[in-house]
Amino acid sequence: MNIIEQLENITPYNGRPVEVVDKKWLISFNGYKKKKQNFNTYYQFDPLAIVYCESPEQVSEVVQLAGKENRILRVRSGGHDHEAECSATGAIVIDLSKMKHVSFDKATKIAEIEPGARFEDIVRILSAYDVSIPHGTCPSVAIAGFISGGGWGPWTRSKGMCCESLVAVSIVLGNGEIAYLDERTQRGRELLWAIRGGGGMSYGIITKFYIETFPLPDELIKFELTFKGRFKSMDVFKVWEDMIAPSNNPELTGTNIKIKARNPEDKDSIEECVIYGSFAESSETFKTKLKVWLKPLETDESFLEEYLKIEEIREKGKQIAGQIFFEELYVNWELGQAKLRGGTPSPHKVTSRVVVEDGWGASGRQNLYESLNTCILPTSQELKDSGIECYATHNAISGAYYANHKAAGTGNTESSFPYKQRPFIIQYQAWWKLEGNIPEAKFKKCLNSVLEWQQECRDRSFPETSGSFISFKDASIMTKHYFAESYEELKRIKEKWSNDPENIFSSRKTII
Ligand SMILES: Cc1cc2nc3c(=O)[nH]c(=O)nc-3n(C[C@H](O)[C@H](O)[C@H](O)COP(=O)(O)OP(=O)(O)OC[C@H]3O[C@@H](n4cnc5c(N)ncnc54)[C@H](O)[C@@H]3O)c2cc1C
Repeated sequence: MNIIEQLENITPYNGRPVEVVDKKWLISFNGYKKKKQNFNTYYQFDPLAIVYCESPEQVSEVVQLAGKENRILRVRSGGHDHEAECSATGAIVIDLSKMKHVSFDKATKIAEIEPGARFEDIVRILSAYDVSIPHGTCPSVAIAGFISGGGWGPWTRSKGMCCESLVAVSIVLGNGEIAYLDERTQRGRELLWAIRGGGGMSYGIITKFYIETFPLPDELIKFELTFKGRFKSMDVFKVWEDMIAPSNNPELTGTNIKIKARNPEDKDSIEECVIYGSFAESSETFKTKLKVWLKPLETDESFLEEYLKIEEIREKGKQIAGQIFFEELYVNWELGQAKLRGGTPSPHKVTSRVVVEDGWGASGRQNLYESLNTCILPTSQELKDSGIECYATHNAISGAYYANHKAAGTGNTESSFPYKQRPFIIQYQAWWKLEGNIPEAKFKKCLNSVLEWQQECRDRSFPETSGSFISFKDASIMTKHYFAESYEELKRIKEKWSNDPENIFSSRKTII
């Protein structure tokens, strides 16, 4: 039997043969071409086969087969890896999108979530029980890659990164063994520590996550506030920094600020930024608080009327936001153009930096400003004509959760996420679209300039930052810089516990 036939012969699940898509399905609608596509269409790979597993046993069989046949292996849950490391040319891709069941145990308050479940469904299902997990912003991101990288989102200030709530997993190891790791019994404690923030794919293939939930607050809103024209982005940024100081504003459960990148010589371009946030109080309480925060900017009522958007999610203990909320979640916190929202795959490139615990201040702000205002960039008209957007988002980490963590002196013991005491992450982003009537030569020139800008952001001297965030993956950054002081321990744990002597769980940014 050739390799494809062997894959097709994997033990059926509930009597259903495993679905295998390879190049013989090239011309069928909904076939190979469609199924090989990942969220980031900038990268195109031609895998040998995509295998849609439905159980840990099927995953185990594929892992063993790939090992025996010495094949490249990849695993894809939501397919949102920014470098598309969930696939590769010539690889067997284990696709877990059919393993997407979500359940909630009322007695233990633990959610059991299969790897292919996406936030759109997870948040909706858990909301019906008035609970949630520290989820992400994008409805189509799946739990597996998200939590493996740490998991930042609208609850990070109050509940920590999602990985801090992970209590147990089922995992297929390199030799095909299906293991169960549980912090409550101390089983597999070291490996569990690594999985909490140590990156996807490195340690095994996770087939179920057990995540502690928290009760949703009685009142919950999300907001966005746009600043342009007379406001200097760094003045607004300073206000936001005060909002996220560890002991300030515990009701502000999560927030980020998006700042447009621009060419300062472009007379048509103005500074523009948007603060996004999630606030666990009523909109009235929020507006009162907001006025205090904004005092240094001397805003008035008419400004708020024009530029403040509030969406009420919960009121008096009840969910009032409907289906559209679950379909969109907080995706505009991360993405630019409305057209790119939701599950539509789009080409893009990101890179990130993490701000140091102490010593940001005026020099950090100056460095940030320079990185976002540079003559490397095309003019705003050229960007518009080419359908390209470039900006930075700044994701708050500091808040009550990690402040308490520090006070309790628990250090880095519970998860390998290395940035617990950092204030925020800077994510430089460029997104573009492929459709439209954009002249090819113009587009290429413009895109190249934008990619040069990103390279500059990655490589510039920026002493107020150190390290990068693995979920905002940029393959040009050395792997050790993603995991900082956790890196050596992650290497040791992978070697000791993954049962993977052939290093089958390996892609460009996995632990070496
Ligand atoms: C539009 C968009 C918005 C985003 N917003 C946020 C955000 O708000 N917060 C945040 O923290 N991140 C965010 N991200 C980043 C996202 O969390 C990561 O890209 C994440 O890895 C995606 O997970 P996935 O399962 O969807 O992707 P995949 O591409 O399927 O997987 C990502 C990585 O994990 C590995 N992997 C997948 N499944 C498994 C498994 N079962 N076991 C072991 N390894 C596995 C893959 O091999 C790959 O290396 C966003 C990304 C995009 C594209």
